[in-house]
Amino acid sequence: MSFAAKPRDFDAVIIGAGFAGICMLHRLRERGLSAKVFERGNGVGGTWFWNCYPGARCDVESMEYSYQFSEELQQEWEWTERFATQPEILRYLNHVVDRFDFRRDIQLNARVTSAAYDEAANRWTIRTAEGDCVSAKFCIMATGCLSSTNTPKFKGLESFAGATLHTGDWPRERVDFSGKRVGVIGTGSSGVQAIPLIAEEARHLFVFQRTPAYSIPARNHPLAPSVQQRIKADYADLRRRGAQSLLGWDARLNERSALEAGEEERQAEYEARWTTGGLFFYGAYLDLLSSKEANDTAAEFLRAKIRGIVHDPVVAEALSPRQAVGCKRLCVDTGYFETFNRRNVTLVDVRKSPIEEITEQGLRTRDKRYELDSIVFATGFDAMTGALMSIDIRGRAGISLEGKWAEGPRTYLGVGTAGFPNLFIMTGPGSPSVLSNMVPAAEQHANWISRCIDYMRVRGMERIEPAVEAENQWVSHVNDVAAATLFPSCNSWYLGANVPGKPRVFMPYLGFPAYVEKCDEVAARGYEGFTIT
Ligand code: NAP
Repeated sequence: MSFAAKPRDFDAVIIGAGFAGICMLHRLRERGLSAKVFERGNGVGGTWFWNCYPGARCDVESMEYSYQFSEELQQEWEWTERFATQPEILRYLNHVVDRFDFRRDIQLNARVTSAAYDEAANRWTIRTAEGDCVSAKFCIMATGCLSSTNTPKFKGLESFAGATLHTGDWPRERVDFSGKRVGVIGTGSSGVQAIPLIAEEARHLFVFQRTPAYSIPARNHPLAPSVQQRIKADYADLRRRGAQSLLGWDARLNERSALEAGEEERQAEYEARWTTGGLFFYGAYLDLLSSKEANDTAAEFLRAKIRGIVHDPVVAEALSPRQAVGCKRLCVDTGYFETFNRRNVTLVDVRKSPIEEITEQGLRTRDKRYELDSIVFATGFDAMTGALMSIDIRGRAGISLEGKWAEGPRTYLGVGTAGFPNLFIMTGPGSPSVLSNMVPAAEQHANWISRCIDYMRVRGMERIEPAVEAENQWVSHVNDVAAATLFPSCNSWYLGANVPGKPRVFMPYLGFPAYVEKCDEVAARGYEGFTIT
């Protein structure tokens, strides 16, 4: 049985062909439902399509940063490195799309501008900037958490005579920095990955840093076939460990408190995590993200590492973060701090001397002018809500999502929002999303949404939307969980604090296993908290 009526009508429209949209399409196809995917890029991949800056790679290990919906797929695909590069991840996603013949349902170069719910017809009308207009029973937003770039509105930005680039919207062709004076603004995960490689090429690199970042060496290496074979012999075991872990990947969490351990034991634990490399550092102690005192011990360890790597003590001090470790997302790097020992690299502390304007020749801070040939904005994203807000989404009685979320996003379980029937949001605010491993998080939503549609079809039900009360309770719960951690203690994009004027609300939900349990429980109780008719 299909809900579809006419050829331009679909059972579901999915907006976005990144990790989330692709697995959603798979789940709908499997059920014989008609689906159409609109993707604004001229290729699939979403975030991994746009973020092709030098050094871009995942920082969850490749073997876990992949789909699990097909055992054949996970057995066949061979990752070449511990942390896959952006080109390899894009090759993987293109392979998936071809292998399962998804491409025929994906329309590229199609930017969705509006999605409006028609109550009488109980259908969504979706329009693109290119003139498409289709209708669907279900509208599924797979628009990504980090897909709407944030470029600060610096005075004089338009006057710059050189090239400007944003890490989140990087040109497809190789950018050659050789012989150039380059400025990078921003030292989050993207800047930390790009800076060492740009420094190797540029005549001179100026790094304009507002907040120093904690970063752990990736210790990336080729993935030995024997290691892959061992994992593939029992892939389910790795997936299970990931699903049971707070962050949705196997962080090898130490259940002890950092404060229970003696100084020597703590140093040994941190040193072991530093040596292993990558985000395993998060798992060093249970209370790292909840106790300031515990966190301070990790912070001091990481600052000592910076002092040990960076030769100039003044530069080392300027690179040393003061916020809680993990409050802003931990970065993972290859040679980041070492880069500041190069003679062609200058760190500019724009907290001490803020950027006042971009000029025709470069950039001016309060104290100095910098002549530049290129400026790289590694200034991040209007995270979690930016891509949704770029679409005019209208629910019952024409209410706009932008209006409803003016004081911050409000969802039930991150997948639905009251007043917007049959609208599903994948990895939306209020779900673990960016505080977990994005790929399993997206798959969990694809599975949950498709089972919900099954439930409705079997019962001849037509409409589902969160009840306001359930939504209010969920929003409070998400906030309560965040309030018990150190996350609200700094200005991170998790809180929307990186975008001037954005409401300060903690958006993701911490705790992948508890979240999955709650979603399963809601489903088992006939979609408790949703109005379903
Ligand atoms: P980000 O973490 O938001 O970092 C943006 C940087 O730009 C920050 O250093 C920020 O400083 C700075 N900045 C913003 N506005 C500024 C202004 N007006 N003046 C000066 N500096 C300014 O963005 P991102 O590095 O693109 O990373 C975003 C997220 O994407 C990451 O946290 C991660 O979840 C994901 N990501 C993952 C990977 C990976 O898997 N390896 C790689 C890249 C990104 P403040 O801190 O002071 O605001």
